[in-house]
Amino acid sequence: MILDSEIASLASLEPLALELLKEPEVVIKVKLHLNLPTKGPIGIDAYLVYYCTVRGPPSKGGLRINENVTLEDVIQLAEIMTYKCALMDLPFGGAKAGIKANYELPQLDKNIIVREFVHKIRNEIVSGAYVFGPDLGTGPREMATIFGETHMRESVTGKPVGIGGVPGRLQATGYGVAKITEKAVSEILGKDLKDVTIAIQGFGNVGFWACKTLCELGAKVIAVSDKYGGTINFKGLNFEKLSQYSQQNNTVRGFNGSSISNEDLLRLQVDVLIPAAIENVITENNVSLLKAKMIVEGANAPLSNIAHEFLYKKGVPVVPDILANAGGVIASYDEWRISKAGLLITEKETLNDVERTLAKAFEEVLSFADSYKTSLRKAAYAIAARRIADTMIARGWI
Ligand code: NAD
Repeated sequence: MILDSEIASLASLEPLALELLKEPEVVIKVKLHLNLPTKGPIGIDAYLVYYCTVRGPPSKGGLRINENVTLEDVIQLAEIMTYKCALMDLPFGGAKAGIKANYELPQLDKNIIVREFVHKIRNEIVSGAYVFGPDLGTGPREMATIFGETHMRESVTGKPVGIGGVPGRLQATGYGVAKITEKAVSEILGKDLKDVTIAIQGFGNVGFWACKTLCELGAKVIAVSDKYGGTINFKGLNFEKLSQYSQQNNTVRGFNGSSISNEDLLRLQVDVLIPAAIENVITENNVSLLKAKMIVEGANAPLSNIAHEFLYKKGVPVVPDILANAGGVIASYDEWRISKAGLLITEKETLNDVERTLAKAFEEVLSFADSYKTSLRKAAYAIAARRIADTMIARGWI
């Protein structure tokens, strides 16, 4: 459970609200029995978790495809989504779905797996209780497969634009991470983005767009990595050439003849470190080795609780995941309501909405942390928890 006694006290949380937020409301576990073109007969575990639905339906949270994903991971990610939606003040409950399969499987296999998952949880989708979105290992292609099964535009966000996706959704999370970084550099570090150095772990949807936007804003991104390793240039990486290299080689490792391991990237002496790949990469084992002046959580839960406490005591600000990477769910809200209404939206409108909503939440979190002398993370969770408890009161749940 994310809420500790300090967050509960900061949020003046009613005991019953705390009780309801201790565990997930609904956990669905299914086995997908398949005969895959490249693997033959196989049984695959898949999960759908609703952590708290009080601000829904629908409940929102992406679909993760990863061979290491566990039910515990999906529960934790659904819990994070609950607070992220509340912090952004979106009328969504928090959920998450996960399929335990290799995300690098051929697309044909992936389509079959995703389709079977949609069949197995069909009632959750057609009732409008759960709305799919992209996460680690999934993107517009998988969202298109889901739409192909449901034929309901509002059942899935992150779709390609031609079938009702919103322009700007693809880049929304990384764009938001970059915009929050720009604000945090200015308001917390007191610097201009053009004068700071940045390292990014992860070059998937979040890392790629964060890197692109930061480079366009004039920041010096000196290192990036993916699961195969990274590349570094102290003068700043050339994004266009890096992007071409990554497409040709399926990795950023070795770009311009330079390599860096993921562990070393995390330890670089930079102004801002953005872990934007997977969970738990900064823990009690390596947090004392970090030299970054500020951390922006691009991924969900890349820092353990112990790492958060350590950095807070050391005076290193950490912009938490539910604030930093909420751009995706803001754009997903646009896509969901536009899908329901049959309207259109431009890329500029989507990205403006992302920037405006994030900026408002950033100011709220900063001011709360300042008033209550607490970390940005605890401030963010306290604001979100209070909003959830108020909704519980409004619905007569407590
Ligand atoms: P993705 O699958 O598009 O990319 C993941 C990236 O991480 C890839 O570059 C991959 O090579 C790298 N990676 C994988 N394992 C790694 C490892 N062990 N060490 C270092 N790098 C590794 O995923 P994504 O959509 O960019 O999501 C990344 C994170 O951001 C996840 O925590 C996800 O939950 C979170 N997130 C994603 C979105 C979204 O809209 N896609 C929204 C909010 C949060």
